[in-house]
Amino acid sequence: MITAQTFRLDGRMALITGSSAGIGLGLARGLAQAGASVVLNGRDATKLKATAATLRAEGLDVFERSFDVTDADAVKANIDGIERDVGPIDILINNAGIQRRAPLHEFDHKDWHELMQTNLDSVFFVGQAVAKHMITRKKGRIINICSVQSELGRPGISPYMASKGALKMLTKGMAIDWGPLGLNVNGIGPGYFKTELNEKLVNDTTFSAWLTNRTPSRRWGDVEELAGAAVFLASDASTFVNGHILYVDGGVTAQL
Ligand code: NAP
Repeated sequence: MITAQTFRLDGRMALITGSSAGIGLGLARGLAQAGASVVLNGRDATKLKATAATLRAEGLDVFERSFDVTDADAVKANIDGIERDVGPIDILINNAGIQRRAPLHEFDHKDWHELMQTNLDSVFFVGQAVAKHMITRKKGRIINICSVQSELGRPGISPYMASKGALKMLTKGMAIDWGPLGLNVNGIGPGYFKTELNEKLVNDTTFSAWLTNRTPSRRWGDVEELAGAAVFLASDASTFVNGHILYVDGGVTAQL
């Protein structure tokens, strides 16, 4: 029987990459409010400490682990360290990601590699390191933060679209390979949310007017509005949901 309790995450531990700010922070707050203990991550240890202090002041149970998700050796050492020192990771949210904007014919090769390493390679590194532990327990939830740009394009962001399109298929591949071993792997595809990553667009009144008119819900999203989808995909309410991408976008992907 499904009750409100089915959606609770008490006694579970979640690692959320890139959770010192923006969407990751919103997801951390949401999962912790639903009862989970949350390990926060980001590269800037000072920013991470301040975020952890804010969440602890709200009565939430959080830990911090500062590491770069693009560094495979650091990822493995930190995942093994979390499993040893904090406890088994029940829920992984691969959220860390970056945006770089430029016309494709001028796009800097260094930016291309940085973008692919952060948005795609990291999900393979962190996902594989965590899945190895989850597979021994025959259970675990992995949620990859994709994007409406896993489906739809815009000028000047082809490499980001390529990274998020590939991430959608990596999510399905993880579900196919790890589903038989007891894991559920799904994605969340956010529409447009006001975070540092989108600062330039938020301050661009022409873009903002175009976006709100283009979005059936007629507004930008608030990061708190992603937490419900993440809690659902992390909880016992979604035991048979696997390889799915849940778009949380105010209807953007529904309309031409
Ligand atoms: P954000 O505000 O720029 O925050 C990014 C977070 O990731 C920060 O905590 C940052 O901390 C961390 N981070 C970046 N690179 C990292 C690395 N190499 N290793 C570890 N942590 C790293 O971005 P956001 O808007 O919240 O975006 C979060 C995710 O949602 C991304 O995957 C993005 O593509 C996706 N998304 C966002 C939107 C949107 O509207 N904002 C829409 C669709 C999808 P440090 O800098 O300290 O490392």
